[in-house]
Amino acid sequence: MKAVRLYDALDLRVEEVDRPRSPPAGYVTIDVRAAGICGSDLHNYRTGQWISRRPSTAGHEFCGRVSAIGKGVEDLAIGDLVAADSRFYCGQCEACRSGRTNICEHLGFVGEVCDGGFAEQVELPARLVFKHEPSLDPAVAAMAEPLAVALHAVRRLNPPRGEAIILIGCGTIGGLCGLLLSHLHDGKLLFADLNGSRAEMVASLCGGSVVSLDKSQARTALGDARLRYAVDATGSTKAIAQGIELLDGGGAFALVGISHGKLDLDPNVLVEREISLIGCHAFESELADAIALLPKLQSSLLQFSEVLNSLDDIPGAYRRLSDGRTNKLKTIIRIAD
Ligand SMILES: [Zn+2]
Ligand SMILES: [Zn+2]
Repeated sequence: MKAVRLYDALDLRVEEVDRPRSPPAGYVTIDVRAAGICGSDLHNYRTGQWISRRPSTAGHEFCGRVSAIGKGVEDLAIGDLVAADSRFYCGQCEACRSGRTNICEHLGFVGEVCDGGFAEQVELPARLVFKHEPSLDPAVAAMAEPLAVALHAVRRLNPPRGEAIILIGCGTIGGLCGLLLSHLHDGKLLFADLNGSRAEMVASLCGGSVVSLDKSQARTALGDARLRYAVDATGSTKAIAQGIELLDGGGAFALVGISHGKLDLDPNVLVEREISLIGCHAFESELADAIALLPKLQSSLLQFSEVLNSLDDIPGAYRRLSDGRTNKLKTIIRIAD
């Protein structure tokens, strides 16, 4: 079968590999139907930071149909449309036992510590497999994982009713946070992104205003109301520093982007304004809730994304996306019907 495998930084190959054999106890085989390219896939491709096995079939955002079931797997059937939980957590450590599987002491990700979804088939432990509504468009079903990441960030931010929120960065996670907030929250939304046309697209889909990271502009957009809550989905230390400066007192700033470099921050800003900094890593139990939200968000999600039709397109898409050449928030590859 065809698989897209990462050998090293900047070395991604489309190859013929053996299909998974019949799954061992507790595992299932999934025929992949659609998979999404994540910003973290691109980060790993550029830097090699998380390569722990060579080669490794990349891809942790995907959906597919269960095609074989190992012994002891009870709640899945052949033909089920399923999503994968990207987090390969141990289930044994103190964090896992307390339910915080996203900060597992041995956490790895599908597509790094085991082969992922940029292939015709993938084998996974059944504990990492979640059922979808069978009629869901596979291109939408493949977005369950990033939607769970966004939902986790929104829940960690936990803005009180009516509070305005600024979304810094209108890529996948920033855009999905905006989309979720437009459904789950009643305060005004502001969007900031260096790519103005992408910010406009997200703001018009989510109902909000585009601003730059400038206090007077934010005030004007809010009709003089205060801005206390923010999500950074850029990981840019410059944007984070500017975003913190933007906030009035008594709120919170959620960090969900992968950063490069160190933050130059005057902690007195946090102290004097009582701003909480909240780190958000992957998701805890949000995948099932994200899956349940997908049918309602389907049309917006399709407008957010571009769809490619072959695994062969992935290396070119990695290069194009790494250079920022896209106006969409998510690139999905349809692998099979
Ligand atoms: Zn991802
Ligand atoms: Zn663990």
